[in-house]
Amino acid sequence: AKSLGGSRYVIYDESMQALGASRLQMETDLRSALKNDEFVLHYQPIVELKTSEIVGFEALVRWRSRPDSELIYPDQFIKIAEDSGLIVPIGAWVLRQACSVMCTLQQEFPRERPLTINVNLSSRQFSQLDLVHQIGRVVSETCILPGTLGLEITESVTMDDTDRTAAVVAELASAGVHVSIDDFGTGFSSLSYLHRFPIHVLKIDRSFTGRIDFDAESLAIVRTIANLARDLGMDVVAEGVETKAQAARLKSLDCKFGQGYFYSPPLDETSVRRLLHSQEMP
Ligand code: C2E
Ligand code: CA
Ligand code: CA
Ligand code: CA
Repeated sequence: AKSLGGSRYVIYDESMQALGASRLQMETDLRSALKNDEFVLHYQPIVELKTSEIVGFEALVRWRSRPDSELIYPDQFIKIAEDSGLIVPIGAWVLRQACSVMCTLQQEFPRERPLTINVNLSSRQFSQLDLVHQIGRVVSETCILPGTLGLEITESVTMDDTDRTAAVVAELASAGVHVSIDDFGTGFSSLSYLHRFPIHVLKIDRSFTGRIDFDAESLAIVRTIANLARDLGMDVVAEGVETKAQAARLKSLDCKFGQGYFYSPPLDETSVRRLLHSQEMP
């Protein structure tokens, strides 16, 4: 916190000062990370449970912090990036990078149903007025195949302003960009609104997936979400699949897709290529 100094913090006690200073330092560091190209993406496979086939990936951001090249995970910086607004330029970088990498993967690994890529969108990004335009531009400026980009938003984002959400999701859908609800079941979304949005996918939060083997309530929740999605014509992805037993249980509930360490952790681009070449899944 050498750059702080001065008398601005005298009203804080020592621990608050430390907290405020490290936040501010983190903001400064994030800003220079953006300028110096220190963010990297890892990609976690999304798998069709019945066949274990990789259908696409979720892009997850990491920060390769200089000078020691330590890899910092999003839980350590996304909150501060959101609060400071830096998530907007960081998110824009993530979107462009994910689309351009996916484009090359689609060319190297052509499929009847092309590989898809999901990008996380924070509420700050979602409330950008020119969001649809921005996304359209990235899609047209990279060579990503039409219909293969997905955005993941959380329930709180959808419930913020339901009229606008419905309009934005519809615009995205007509531009061929599908929308997933992330961490589904943990937020406050009202089921009565869900059908108003042309949502493509519900992603079941890993807190439920992790308990389906021994907790009747979690099992009931997962079953209910899977049924709901089917009735509303949506796909379901179970997050956080860690064991064979969970994968089997999910299949028996007619949950179509899964994602988690049982199949693969998030991988760097080189490892993604290696995996797609071998196509060895449990
Ligand atoms: P998320 O969107 O729910 O992403 C899934 C997280 O679960 C990832 O953590 C992933 O590594 C982890 N995960 C995957 N499979 C398993 C599993 O089997 N078991 C367990 N215990 N964990 C698993 P990660 O990469 O640390 O990301 C954390 C969160 O940070 C993400 O949660 C997402 O909310 C946020 N995030 C990541 N990348 C971005 C981004 O580019 N933009 C925004 N706005 N948020 C991001
Ligand atoms: Ca996500
Ligand atoms: Ca999630
Ligand atoms: Ca999460």
